[in-house]
Amino acid sequence: MDLLNTLVEKGLRRELPTRDEALAVLATSDDDLLDVVAAAGRVRRQWFGRRVKLNYLVNLKSGLCPEDCNYCSQRLGSKAEILKYTWLKPEEASKAAAAGVAGGAKRVCLVASGRGPTDRDVDRVSRTIEAIKEENEDVEVCACLGLLSAGQADRLREAGADAYNHNLNTSEATYGAITTTHTYADRVDTVRQAQSAGLSACSGLIAGMGESDEDLVDVVFSLRELDPDSVPVNFLIPFEGTPLAKEWNLTPQRCLRILAMTRFVCPDVEVRLAGGREVHLRTLQPLALHLVNSIFLGDYLTSEGQAGKADLDMIADAGFEVEGAGETTLPEHRAAGGCGSVCGSGGGGGNESGNESGSESGSGSGGGCGTAGKSGVPEVTEPATAPTGAPTGGPTGGPTGGPTGGPTSGPRTDLVTVRRRGAGTELAPNA
Ligand code: SF4
Repeated sequence: MDLLNTLVEKGLRRELPTRDEALAVLATSDDDLLDVVAAAGRVRRQWFGRRVKLNYLVNLKSGLCPEDCNYCSQRLGSKAEILKYTWLKPEEASKAAAAGVAGGAKRVCLVASGRGPTDRDVDRVSRTIEAIKEENEDVEVCACLGLLSAGQADRLREAGADAYNHNLNTSEATYGAITTTHTYADRVDTVRQAQSAGLSACSGLIAGMGESDEDLVDVVFSLRELDPDSVPVNFLIPFEGTPLAKEWNLTPQRCLRILAMTRFVCPDVEVRLAGGREVHLRTLQPLALHLVNSIFLGDYLTSEGQAGKADLDMIADAGFEVEGAGETTLPEHRAAGGCGSVCGSGGGGGNESGNESGSESGSGSGGGCGTAGKSGVPEVTEPATAPTGAPTGGPTGGPTGGPTGGPTSGPRTDLVTVRRRGAGTELAPNA
């Protein structure tokens, strides 16, 4: 397919696809799906080899948020029966983080619900970061605390934070329909504050909220222009008790197309498969590893993921390997000053999108962020030759078809499980 040949060549050169090319990926047929995965997989392997970075979420403060993000189980007025608790003590958070690190996580994401931190909250999180780093010197710490005020990003950086997450979530045009208590511009501003402070920026999206293909392309192009080091892609978990509870719009095949489009637009960025993967990709999760180079291990903020052991087994069975603490996530050129929209040829940017503190898709997923950049050359380099129609590499051709041949398999509310273990509970975390 000419489209895929073009997209692979552009991805290997870090060149921005056109909007029409990105839209065409989303419009491909199920018959072409494995070809799309194979093509985007070549770009993934060029920049990240077969490595999978594991990230672990610690929900420092759960629920009771005054903001009204429609997708979030922690929002104002949410009737979702999630865990609600105030700030974990530094030692509690450190203990939870240690479970993730023991399970193979390279990054710990410290998330708190709320519009944004007070200066006292920043003090508290700074002590938490210090406690985690005392126990695990090499672990990357990403903070996800909402909208930042002047100077707060610098203080987090000084405390040892490596990264900051704040998602754009959806296109600028549709942002007002998702949240009214803050703006898209607020989110963009916080990501820029994090970047200015020298934190590795992490900013992504939530798909499945009723947006159009154009909205998805808008938000991913905006992310490329904003140039975070990592882009988490959440799939909405439609929590009962939230305004988007009935928004079951995704199929496993559509999720794969969205991930492939994101990889083509952000070829050398850490693309992270975030919340909703178990619910929406279901048995096709392993195919997504050909597109993303990063996932969350275990549970999300307010919902449960599959067992951490199942995550590790999936990675091994699919022929990928967990990225070690001594390995660098990002390609060398990004560590040298960032890239994304700047490098390669290619034309103009797009728009933007963003997410935030306690946010997740439906609030099961998580923030997640980018790597603190450094060095590291991609281990696998492939020639910019045209992709074949057959899936490349991969342990097998992957599952054929989806769970059903139909366009949807209906809501799978049975797969949405509220988190009852880990941070904020007496039960051991899932890692
Ligand atoms: S996404 Fe963040 S700010 Fe929005 S309602 Fe959820 S916790 Fe609050």
